[in-house]
Amino acid sequence: MKPLASLTFQALDLPVEGVDLCGEIAFAALDLHEDDLFTFLSPLRFTLTAAPVEDSVLVRGRLEAEVQRVCDRCLEPGKVLLKVDPVCYHYEHVAGAVVDLTDAVREDILLAFPQTWLCRAECRGLCPRCGCNRNESTCGCPPEEPDEGDEDDTWGALDDLVVRDES
Ligand SMILES: [Zn+2]
Ligand SMILES: [Zn+2]
Repeated sequence: MKPLASLTFQALDLPVEGVDLCGEIAFAALDLHEDDLFTFLSPLRFTLTAAPVEDSVLVRGRLEAEVQRVCDRCLEPGKVLLKVDPVCYHYEHVAGAVVDLTDAVREDILLAFPQTWLCRAECRGLCPRCGCNRNESTCGCPPEEPDEGDEDDTWGALDDLVVRDES
């Protein structure tokens, strides 16, 4: 079967066993765009089956895409497989109509984007003094010293908060 390039199908005379809806769609068509953290390495692949259930339609299957994500610690990009499996959508009273899955798929794949991500569990991050990637080299900077002036800790933390708010 020819892969589909859109997430719509007509709910007309669907066979009991369902019809396969398989293909790829660009993230731009889902109104999702690259940013500082994410780069898209592949279109979104969908492998779905739409089957009639009484007077409604049940769509089931999975979604997959490869994206590049910047590591939270060392800022190096790495590859992440986004996967939503299974997805399940239910549409009532759509006999004969064109069903558009775009919004539902957009919502599901959005949730699959990791909010936090490390290139490896033991990522050593960047040296706070010279900025070198500590996974790749040892800069020889002295280790960070614990904060001095214990009495002022409360106010120090508050200062940090204010600074972060303004950035
Ligand atoms: Zn890292
Ligand atoms: Zn350093």
